[in-house]
Amino acid sequence: MKQFSITFGNETTFRERLQEIKQQCGSGTSACTVVFRIYSQDMNREHIARVCHILDDTMPEALYFGCTTNANILEGQLTDAEIILLCTVFEYETTKVKLLQYPFLEENCKEDVRDLRQYCNDNPWVNSIEMLATIMDMSMKEFCDEMSKLRSDIQVFGGGAFNPNMDDDTAGVFSKGNGFMEHGIVFLLIGGEDFHAYSTFISGWKPLKRKFRITKADKSILYELDGMPAFNVYHKFLNIKKNNNFFSNTLEFPLFMEHEGIDILRCPLAVNEDDSLVMTSDMEENAIVRLAYGDPETILRSIRQDGQKLADFFPEVIQTFSCAARRAFWGDENISKETVLFENIAPTAGFYTHGEFIRINGDMLNFNVTLVLVAMREGDAGDREKINFYDASMDVLDKIPMIWRFVSFIEASTAELEEMNQKMALSAITDGLTKLYNRTEIERRIRESIASHGNEAENGCISLIMLDIDNFKKVNDTYGHKEGDNVIIVLSDILRKVTLRLPSSSAGRWGGEEFMVLLPESDINTAVKAAEKIRAIFEDTLFEKAGHQTVSIGVTQAKDGESADALCSRVDNALYQAKKTGKNRVVRLDA
Ligand code: GH3
Ligand code: MG
Ligand code: MG
Repeated sequence: MKQFSITFGNETTFRERLQEIKQQCGSGTSACTVVFRIYSQDMNREHIARVCHILDDTMPEALYFGCTTNANILEGQLTDAEIILLCTVFEYETTKVKLLQYPFLEENCKEDVRDLRQYCNDNPWVNSIEMLATIMDMSMKEFCDEMSKLRSDIQVFGGGAFNPNMDDDTAGVFSKGNGFMEHGIVFLLIGGEDFHAYSTFISGWKPLKRKFRITKADKSILYELDGMPAFNVYHKFLNIKKNNNFFSNTLEFPLFMEHEGIDILRCPLAVNEDDSLVMTSDMEENAIVRLAYGDPETILRSIRQDGQKLADFFPEVIQTFSCAARRAFWGDENISKETVLFENIAPTAGFYTHGEFIRINGDMLNFNVTLVLVAMREGDAGDREKINFYDASMDVLDKIPMIWRFVSFIEASTAELEEMNQKMALSAITDGLTKLYNRTEIERRIRESIASHGNEAENGCISLIMLDIDNFKKVNDTYGHKEGDNVIIVLSDILRKVTLRLPSSSAGRWGGEEFMVLLPESDINTAVKAAEKIRAIFEDTLFEKAGHQTVSIGVTQAKDGESADALCSRVDNALYQAKKTGKNRVVRLDA
């Protein structure tokens, strides 16, 4: 395949250039299929119609399709040309193409795709679909779900039509014989045994580790992250304010989410009165998002790393669908740095989009802030010489970017804080001397298991064991407080060991030498057995100074609908009975 590019300036030179191309096409076989892609940053529909008319007139056999754009890319660079035409000449007889265009609205997008699917099923030659669509104010979820059902061997890629003015929602798509649609979608189906395409995407933005959960979202409105108004995250962590610079500031920190292992970016476009954010595309409730950071050096490194894969495909043509947000991020002076290197591999052209599309592992994905690249070739790569996409020696200073050091610092500090938080959270529920749960925690656990008892299946019986060391005051008085502590610690270890294997058990220190064991999945018989074991092991233990000591134990099981207080009071009563009837014994009080 070959590709010629034309910029539409004045009509005469345009016609001349078309004639030139026509002759060059004709020099091959008549089997050539010619397809024009027309990208127009000029929103004047008459101008677009004029270009189409001239094409119909000069090359009636050629197909064409196109859309309005934020700006155009030619020879790997942002171009001033308002209307560009890319004329692709497919030279193999086996290569086939087909254009389909539909009106495109959220409510009918499923039917469009069903029709497309039907066509692809009837035509097994289709192996790639290039798409242009007007997607403003639309949720793309249903569309993408439907597209994911396409025959699994079909690649899909493309971009959302846009407007040179990012605040303007008007856009359009068009194709030969179907006219211009402000709400439309065009598919170029390509295939045949000699046509090969390789599609990939690069963002270059890197996620920070801190995670946020989307607690409230509706389509592209992001209401809450971690239960807080979404804007708070940008304000609190990045000191981004609600002003005219909001979009350009957040562009450096879009939200990053993983969808089935694939990294997707979403950028906040604006803040609403209620501090919710207007995002570039759909946000899914309950998804985990992270702030990503973009800096020029990091982005370029990603492109250099991934670009080699494209070079290794030996493409004859490279299509680019790059997000308009990337153009805003880099600025017009620098944006071409991202794409210019691809021109060394093959003619590289495309446009700046409102959303990028690519099908990965069968899943149709709607990206933002991303660069979708499509390498195309007819015939085998053969044994062509390997193209070195990027030569590292071209770097004057191969120094690690400063921002990486800062990110590393932030990540390390965050990890340290998280570890500290975990330790503090644990210490807040742990008793210092025994390392069992403290009174607050064991009481909370008893209340919690009573509260959830009603929801559980029939097997959910809750038992409680309460213990108190016998004549403990004497241990302190006779052998000293330290030996007293030692006795308490040893009993705690016994509690832990004996109840360890009982499901969901928790043991806590109720007060001085009193303990409570919660067995939320054991009946009273199991609890009594455990209690008897504790009593016996403790009695057998020989303390260096205090010799043998004993413990009294009460055991009970919760009744249906009973309060935690009533349960605790009964187990306390059981313990009291054990003390009253001679100590060193287990008393059970059935409900
Ligand atoms: P009973 O058999 O009726 O339970 O008699 P007792 O002596 O064990 O009961 P009492 O409640 O009168 O005494 C408990 C003692 O436990 C009083 C207190 O000094 C001691 N104690 C409470 N906490 C600790 C502790 O952390 N370490 C030590 N060594 N002693 C403690
Ligand atoms: Mg006591
Ligand atoms: Mg006691």
